[in-house]
Amino acid sequence: MQHSLARITFAALLAVLALVIIAASLLYRVTQEHERFVSQRTPAYAGQLLVSQISTITGDWSRATQAIAQSPLALRLLQTQDEAERRAQLANIVSLHPDLGEIHILNSDQANGQSPVSGMLSSRQLHMIETARADKNNTASLRADLPLLTLTEPVRDTSGAVIGYVLVGRHLDEIRLLFDQTPLIDGYAELQQVNGSTDVLLKRGDEHLKMQGIPETLPLQGTPWRLALWVRPAASGIADHPLRSLMSIGAVLILLIIAMFGLAHTLANRALQRDLSALTKLFSDITHDRMRKQYPVALKEMKNAYQVMYQLGKLMVGKHLRTLNSAETDHLSQVNNRRSFEAKQREVFARVNEGWAHSLLILDIDNFKQVNDTFGHEAGDQLIVQFGKALKDNLRGSDFVARLGGDEFCVIFPNTPLGKANELALRLREKLPQQMTLQPDVIHNVSWSGGLSEYSRHDQSENAALARADQALLDAKRTGRNRTEIKAAA
Ligand code: GH3
Ligand code: MG
Repeated sequence: MQHSLARITFAALLAVLALVIIAASLLYRVTQEHERFVSQRTPAYAGQLLVSQISTITGDWSRATQAIAQSPLALRLLQTQDEAERRAQLANIVSLHPDLGEIHILNSDQANGQSPVSGMLSSRQLHMIETARADKNNTASLRADLPLLTLTEPVRDTSGAVIGYVLVGRHLDEIRLLFDQTPLIDGYAELQQVNGSTDVLLKRGDEHLKMQGIPETLPLQGTPWRLALWVRPAASGIADHPLRSLMSIGAVLILLIIAMFGLAHTLANRALQRDLSALTKLFSDITHDRMRKQYPVALKEMKNAYQVMYQLGKLMVGKHLRTLNSAETDHLSQVNNRRSFEAKQREVFARVNEGWAHSLLILDIDNFKQVNDTFGHEAGDQLIVQFGKALKDNLRGSDFVARLGGDEFCVIFPNTPLGKANELALRLREKLPQQMTLQPDVIHNVSWSGGLSEYSRHDQSENAALARADQALLDAKRTGRNRTEIKAAA
């Protein structure tokens, strides 16, 4: 697939967009996590708050129970034998403390389990009395069996002797409500009563946390209770350090974006370099009059421009080569012209000192003028054309054939000593056609005379060899034509 600057840029932009979306979702997660972490974390003061609130409530209850035990109403109730009086006093006490709970006042006998009236009490009242008995050695006690809390307070006569007990039975709903309202998401709390063994009165939160470690225990003053609080260990993650996490994500994002654009830039640059070097090669070839089949360009955007340049280059090279050829070629015979002959002769003469021998043969058509005179100039031209073609067809590719002018041709045999050149000249005489059809009804017997010589390092100029060959040619003409004379260098 071909590269394209637009495609590379588009891919880079898509990658950046994907990165931004990933980063945004990460940032959103961090924020959410942090918010949840902050809102759900059990505050450090939760335990203290709960303890002080529970203590306030139980303190109120204890004080109310003590107030009843010390009131003259309770004393009178325990000292009278009149049942109606007792009921009236109890009703007075209840009306004074309407929200305290179930209130019972027992004399010492009842509390010691010697009451003949126990059968008249409800099972719940009996339970309360049981509770009171368990604490009869205490001056006061507060006990709870779910869901009931029992408060007991001794009633004393004027001499200080205990004559009975005030029993208050309360539901723990109020304290339960406190538990429920205290933020305790990442924690677990128990309201415990320690009497030898540990009884759990209330509990709240994730009980699994109990396995995770030692709780913080907070005693509730004035009660046999304590609050045990387990808090989930602080998670160490992005939620803990949201700012640091945001900065890290931002930094990574910026680095990735820079890397992405760097990569896109490198790819585009490399493709551009490749294309520029292909175009440079194309231009260089055009200036050297040659063209390759193709110059691979990598970028799509370059393709059209490249094709236009390639076609233009082809035209230019073709035209230039044609111009060059026409400048070097004789337009009639289609062999090299005099100018290129002279250039070739200079080149050959320049190499004569290197040790190689080079020879040349001048050919002049015999009695050419007669053809012109007999059959016309066009027939003469036709003879020149066919003679030039016959020479090219019967010489080696390395031999240089030129028309020097009129009916005179010359062949340079590079790297060929005179003896060898003579053999070639003889062979040429055998091979060249002896008849040529100049016009449909004109068949002409062709013969030519030749003058052969060689380039010599002792010559003053490159034309010296040509002059010798010319001399030899004159000799050949003079001595009867249709033959080749040799004139070696002195
Ligand atoms: P010789 O055997 O001694 O060479 O006799 P010749 O008749 O061939 O004489 P010469 O080589 O001197 O003849 C050259 C003639 O060729 C003179 C000129 O009129 C004629 N000629 C020169 N250039 C052209 C040409 O381009 N076309 C034609 N048809 N004739 C040309
Ligand atoms: Mg001639």
